[in-house]
Amino acid sequence: MSKADYYEVLGVSRDASDQELKSAYRKLALKYHPDRNPGDHAAEEKFKQASEAYQVLCDPDKRAAYDRYGHAGVGGPASGGFGGPFAGAVDLGDIFGDLFGEMFNMGGSPRASRQQRGDDLRFDLSIGFEDAVFGTETEVKIRRLEICPTCDGRGSASGRGPTTCAQCHGRGQIRYQQGFFSVARTCGACGGTGSIIGDPCQTCRGETRVSKELKLNVKVPPGVEDGTRIRYSGEGDAGRAGGPKGDLYVVLSIQPHDFFERDGQDLRCVIPVSFPQAALGAEIEIPGIDGPVSLKIPEGTQSGKEVRVRGKGVPILNEKGRGDLVARIIVQVPRKLTRAQRELVNKLAELMNVDNRPTSPTLMDKMKDLFN
Ligand SMILES: [Zn+2]
Ligand SMILES: [Zn+2]
Repeated sequence: MSKADYYEVLGVSRDASDQELKSAYRKLALKYHPDRNPGDHAAEEKFKQASEAYQVLCDPDKRAAYDRYGHAGVGGPASGGFGGPFAGAVDLGDIFGDLFGEMFNMGGSPRASRQQRGDDLRFDLSIGFEDAVFGTETEVKIRRLEICPTCDGRGSASGRGPTTCAQCHGRGQIRYQQGFFSVARTCGACGGTGSIIGDPCQTCRGETRVSKELKLNVKVPPGVEDGTRIRYSGEGDAGRAGGPKGDLYVVLSIQPHDFFERDGQDLRCVIPVSFPQAALGAEIEIPGIDGPVSLKIPEGTQSGKEVRVRGKGVPILNEKGRGDLVARIIVQVPRKLTRAQRELVNKLAELMNVDNRPTSPTLMDKMKDLFN
């Protein structure tokens, strides 16, 4: 693939002035900047092309060589440019300088602060089915970073605190000049914080925090669902060098129940009844989640029908009231009949005009009826 013409890349004529080049490049760089087009490789490619073109054309010597010999005259991108060994660390503030660095909100030099918010922590808690329905209180053991008690979070043994890093003079970055580019790298001496603790605390080695295990009381409200996250503000890791604390998230998983299933705030279960109960109707007692529940089976109940008992489900989280208990009725057919039972069922079949022929015209009607 042949390389695109630099003037065409920037969309300018061959006799474009420096100002025209600058403004064309500025437009393209703003449009295709990777920060504005995350994950868009086509945009990234255009951005690189525009940068390379501008890099050559803004330099009078390189431009003259390019005009005369084309790409061969400038040997591709200059060392240290995009795609060079420092591509990942190019400091945009310096590439664009006063040209439009401020438009990317990069007015000052980036500098990591010593202060840092503590991490959020996650604790997975498995609770019983009933505990999720009615709520519970339990103690969990967590390990988190706390402010070092020896140095009181200052990090230094004498309490003097951090001093400015001599390597980077507090900037947190070391800069290298690479031709047209100024390349910035995080300062290795201070880890980008710009300051160093000369006499680190023995306990925390200057980190200002120490790992500690502690017990925490977790209150699970009634009505929580599987996957519910309970947030404990400020109970995560302590911040570094006096930064704010992180949060703790307790993530609940609910163990299954032998008999009930959760459906939001409703409880579901399957209740087997006999043919006479379904046919004649009945009032039966079933086990609820908190004691026996009376269930009314209407006369003529079909297998699969759901009977709802209001207010016998799960308490609604942070509100008054409860969901329902939904019982799915399954009509059981006896597996074995005694002689007397068989006689009676035969008699019933007779009285019901049961027709065993598959072509029975009433079959379709019965099938339709089943779903009503
Ligand atoms: Zn310490
Ligand atoms: Zn440094």
